[in-house]
Amino acid sequence: MTFDCLYCARTKPVSESSLEHAIPQFLGGAQAPLHYKLHNVCRTCNNRLGLHVDGSYAKSWFVTNAMAEAARKYYSGPGQSRSLPLTCIGPVNIPDLLLPKDTVAEYWLGPSGESIIWVRTGDDALYWYSGGNPTRRKQASTVYFLPVTDDPVRLQMGVEALIEGFKKTKARRIFGTKLEGLPPGETYPGFDLPNTADDSTVQAIRTLVQAGSIHAQLHMNTKFDLRFICKMALAVGFSLFGHSYLATAEAAAARSGLWPNPSFQPNVRGSSTIHNNAQLAKVAGYDGAIVILVIRTGGAYVMAMTLDRGLPFVVELCPDTLSSGLIDPALGYSLVLFPQLQRCVELSLPDLLAHVLGHASNASLAAIDKQRQVATTFWNSLPR
Ligand SMILES: [Zn+2]
Repeated sequence: MTFDCLYCARTKPVSESSLEHAIPQFLGGAQAPLHYKLHNVCRTCNNRLGLHVDGSYAKSWFVTNAMAEAARKYYSGPGQSRSLPLTCIGPVNIPDLLLPKDTVAEYWLGPSGESIIWVRTGDDALYWYSGGNPTRRKQASTVYFLPVTDDPVRLQMGVEALIEGFKKTKARRIFGTKLEGLPPGETYPGFDLPNTADDSTVQAIRTLVQAGSIHAQLHMNTKFDLRFICKMALAVGFSLFGHSYLATAEAAAARSGLWPNPSFQPNVRGSSTIHNNAQLAKVAGYDGAIVILVIRTGGAYVMAMTLDRGLPFVVELCPDTLSSGLIDPALGYSLVLFPQLQRCVELSLPDLLAHVLGHASNASLAAIDKQRQVATTFWNSLPR
């Protein structure tokens, strides 16, 4: 028994197939409908592209910021199943910090602006992964957490975000503030006991934070999304149009754009994230959600994606002679994903627009809108 891998097109034994979320899990793809769960992707592609293609998109400055902002819109306090994401700023130079050999310090922000410094193994090969070294998680590292407020709710939010954000690493967690009244040998719940080196590191970080002079090097890669757009076109195109999609020139172009080849410009038609598509993002977006639209226009089906009403990209999927059991050619298609709520709604484009514009309410989206109002009330109740 064999299958042809969607991404590398090689014929592989079924034993090498893996579960692929056509829409990556960080965008809420685990909750997407069944037709977005693919089995024709080999394990090698799944791992490699997850790391290098999804990873470089997810960890780019634009996306990591937008995802953090989106999550806040559906977060209504500590103790929920999902904490808030952290924002990675980038490598930071702390003058008085004695870093162990081959390590770097990376600056992150917590949900209330907490300073978080992760001291981890450096790796130049993963230069563009602002957002942390994805391959050396199992190596020893230390993360320092400096709260910004005594407010117990804000503190708990920050602590939960830190623990969740670093749970896949082997990082020791050091609480960067003296805790009054704690017996010796104890620290804040969920944190590790600091040693003397930790104490001086915390002091060096705090001095810099208090002086307001902590500056990270923010790396920008303006092509962070190109391979990701090709991967999304292939995976969503196949999920919606099936095997006939794979025979199209557009699928072939997306597949060639998926792999790194600096000397070759694949013929993928569309417009990348950095182009000015603000109008599209406004119309085709949803507060705090990832929206995937498929529209029939100009003889083709075109896919657009937005993130929290921003960062839009557009890519041509296939000729409109293809058909999908999931899309009414006259009405178009939309999928709205809410990763923070672990929910998703699939509906026609006119139904989405009618709801967004207030003409006709969609029951599932209305329930989600209520959650957003609860979150707004929560944020307004917090001390500044
Ligand atoms: Zn493959």
